[in-house]
Amino acid sequence: MLLSKLREALICLKAGRVTLPYPSAPHDPSPRFRGKITVDPDRCFGCGGCANVCPAGVILIHDTDQHTRVLEFQWRRCTYCGRCEEVCPEQAIHMSQQFETATDRPEDLVIRLEVFMGPCQRCGRCFPPPTPLDRMMVSGFRSGGNGGRQ
Ligand code: SF4
Ligand code: SF4
Repeated sequence: MLLSKLREALICLKAGRVTLPYPSAPHDPSPRFRGKITVDPDRCFGCGGCANVCPAGVILIHDTDQHTRVLEFQWRRCTYCGRCEEVCPEQAIHMSQQFETATDRPEDLVIRLEVFMGPCQRCGRCFPPPTPLDRMMVSGFRSGGNGGRQ
């Protein structure tokens, strides 16, 4: 009995340290690690492809008016599968390296995006404008809450 314990202790000593010092020291995940999703609002054009493939139903989409599509990523349910990143045609979604996501604020667990959509003059359905310039032709060249005044 004592002998087997001693042998175990020797094996452990020989193996050296097998655990990471985290959280006492910072830990960098491997490059292919899939952490919290990030979404680039300048790239997303509201196609809804990510919502179609998300197995966890994380991504909710609705139109508030003819020009505005709202995307809500309720990422507390995210399984980090990476499907949304794979299918996004604009590479707007990225699986970041962030894994320390604990929070006591529910609003931290939602990413909300408002995407400007141009409505078709004939059928009224939303479609994404092809360029930022087209967007400005409709929404104006000045933005902000001062009504365009400097
Ligand atoms: S990583 Fe997977 S579960 Fe998470 S939002 Fe993307 S598709 Fe949905
Ligand atoms: S994030 Fe990508 S896939 Fe999802 S709606 Fe935007 S452009 Fe489409």
